[in-house]
Amino acid sequence: MPELPEVETTKKDLSKKTILEKVKGCWVGLPNRTFIRSDFKKRDYSEIIKGGKIENVYRKGKNIIIDLSNGVSILMHQKISGHILFGKWQYDSGKWISKDKLLAQKINSFIYFIIFLTNGNMIALSDPRKFFKVEFWKKEDLEESQAIKELGPDALEIDLKRLQGLLGKRKQGIKKLLLNQSFISGIGNIYSDEMLWDAAISPFRKANSLKEDETKKLFKSMRKILKESLRYKGDSTSDYRLITGEEGSYQKRHKVYQRDGEKCPRNDGGIIKREKFGNRSLRYCPICQK
Ligand SMILES: [Zn+2]
Repeated sequence: MPELPEVETTKKDLSKKTILEKVKGCWVGLPNRTFIRSDFKKRDYSEIIKGGKIENVYRKGKNIIIDLSNGVSILMHQKISGHILFGKWQYDSGKWISKDKLLAQKINSFIYFIIFLTNGNMIALSDPRKFFKVEFWKKEDLEESQAIKELGPDALEIDLKRLQGLLGKRKQGIKKLLLNQSFISGIGNIYSDEMLWDAAISPFRKANSLKEDETKKLFKSMRKILKESLRYKGDSTSDYRLITGEEGSYQKRHKVYQRDGEKCPRNDGGIIKREKFGNRSLRYCPICQK
């Protein structure tokens, strides 16, 4: 699932390409994943957004929001396997085809939503597993979106004091808490594994058992890992791609995620262990993560 560094990279790249461009309309391939949330007079997807200029592209947690000059906000959540692309496609025998080599790759060809710009370019959402969500809102109603309303502070914006305060009140395991978007937003399975290893904290520790210096370490590791991944344009272990269709490269820097059975990079004799964690897995070093 795209996490903060992936969604932030998409946001940055998309901003550069689309700010001040005008929207011509859209194509909706999956009406059951594309929702008109506000009470618009027009009930047609294209009619709602047509004529608006893209004024702002920003991120809230793992959501991307595009604000248009006609007062419409388009919220996109890429969920488990979605990613946003930018380029040109043509509809041919029931499929959207791109002449661009990267965009034409299989991983980028599950197109279920497209925004058309008047200059001929397009913003598209590819999602092999079809869990994505697009919502059309009046800008003034957007805060009502469940996706926004329930978000905790952003993992890159929270300060140490607030993190300490929040952790101190919670009895849950730290790994579980880091994944909870209403506690802190933007972190998923990859980065929680990596930041807990970096801070040498066991994923099973209860949040309120962390000592002051451990919380400090976790705070530092959180910022360090997220920023490092941003520099490498995110993690393409799974379906995430840049808007050009290229891979990010943070997956080459993993210390524990999907390194099960390998030696801990701290050379402490530990072997990275994988354990079932709800319906997914977590990885950690049983020697250095206390
Ligand atoms: Zn270790």
